[in-house]
Amino acid sequence: MSKGNIKPIRNFSGYAKKLFSAGDLVFREGDLGDEAYIIEKGRVEIFVGEEDAPTPVAVLGVGEIFGEMAIVDFATRAASARVLEDCELTVVSQEQLSERIDTADPIVRLLISMLIKRNRENLHKKSNKLGNVALMETAISEIITELEQKEIDDVGALDKIKMESELQSALEQEDFELFYQPILDSKSRKIAGFEALIRWDHPKRGMVRPDIFMGIAEETSLIIPIGQWVIEQACRDTKYIRSKIKSFNNIKKNFFMAVNVSGRQLNDPVFFDVLEHATRENHIMPSNFKLEITERVLVGGNLVEQWITECHKRGFTVALDDFGTGYSSLSYLSQFAVDNLKIDRSFVRKIHDDKKSKVIVKAIIDLAKGLGIRLVAEGIETERDAVTLRKMGCDYQQGYLYTRPLSLPELLKFLEEQYQVAI
Ligand code: C2E
Ligand code: CA
Ligand code: CA
Repeated sequence: MSKGNIKPIRNFSGYAKKLFSAGDLVFREGDLGDEAYIIEKGRVEIFVGEEDAPTPVAVLGVGEIFGEMAIVDFATRAASARVLEDCELTVVSQEQLSERIDTADPIVRLLISMLIKRNRENLHKKSNKLGNVALMETAISEIITELEQKEIDDVGALDKIKMESELQSALEQEDFELFYQPILDSKSRKIAGFEALIRWDHPKRGMVRPDIFMGIAEETSLIIPIGQWVIEQACRDTKYIRSKIKSFNNIKKNFFMAVNVSGRQLNDPVFFDVLEHATRENHIMPSNFKLEITERVLVGGNLVEQWITECHKRGFTVALDDFGTGYSSLSYLSQFAVDNLKIDRSFVRKIHDDKKSKVIVKAIIDLAKGLGIRLVAEGIETERDAVTLRKMGCDYQQGYLYTRPLSLPELLKFLEEQYQVAI
């Protein structure tokens, strides 16, 4: 039988169309695949085995796609396609499909290759050409291994999937912990507040820092329940710290607690319910609770502005974190009504060796001050950093000079020993 009386025409969307008559073969098992088809009119039978003794696999109708497997994994056709009645097919070229697949999420790409692998295995089970199948299977499994390897090398897609499910169970088993780093008043050097920083107490890996897992949590909706947990836990711990402290010599009585909020959390419909419930239940004044968002989040524009307004309406304060790492547009400072600005440690690093950086930081500080924004310098590691930034007008400081982030018991010990706070 001929391979169809192919009559390419063009439809309005620019895709080529082909017409086939009843009985025509669109492609044969073993052919090299270079295009897939969407059925516009008619029905197509997919079968494996010889044409005169076929094993039917499926009958497809209008709107269905076929022939896509071979052009996704660049293998030969695993089945044949025959037109059952006069057919009109839209052609999907290899370029069209690979362009879409290449720009898809790596996990989606991996899933596609897995699905195709499984599909091929099912087809082979149905085929009775045993010799051929064995040959093809080797070729296919080589291709699939190559594909999977490529994915793993590219982005660690499998690792990501594994970590995602590990994060899910970490949440269920409460394997997360909050560490706290003090934020000091530059002049009095009293502790003004704390920043809560998440850690993952992993059963095998030990304490995992957020850079490793928060990116994955942020790519998935897991950031929502994790973010809610952070707020609730930070509130409970604030109440606990207050209950433990008997004198407040070197720490402000109304110390604030700051938590990091990621972009996706701004769309959490129950964000403010969780926040208000947690602060109220633990007797924390909203003005003593800070929400840190990064510069990257500001790209969201209007939505972020509304979110900041909502925070203020409810009495919470907002800090702009990591200033100096992203776009650092000074216009952000007038557009977004943040209360605090945290100057990133990469800027703090540079001020001693680079005069220009110092001038830029000074300009940022002056501009922020003019707008009524209070400044926090991050990554204060040396006495020299501390003195310079105080002189430049930073209100608060945070960094290893004072302490690294500490677990709750470590924090209480630190306050007792270093700050002579009666616990
Ligand atoms: P960040 O918000 O900028 O937090 C400050 C980071 O700088 C912390 O890293 C802290 O340990 C580190 N750091 C503090 N002082 C110094 C210093 O003097 N020198 C140096 N080299 N580093 C210092 P950490 O705890 O690993 O957190 C990394 C990032 O993970 C955070 O950066 C924040 O963006 C994110 N993160 C942490 N906890 C949470 C959370 O609960 N929710 C969200 N969404 N993100 C979080
Ligand atoms: Ca932060
Ligand atoms: Ca920061």
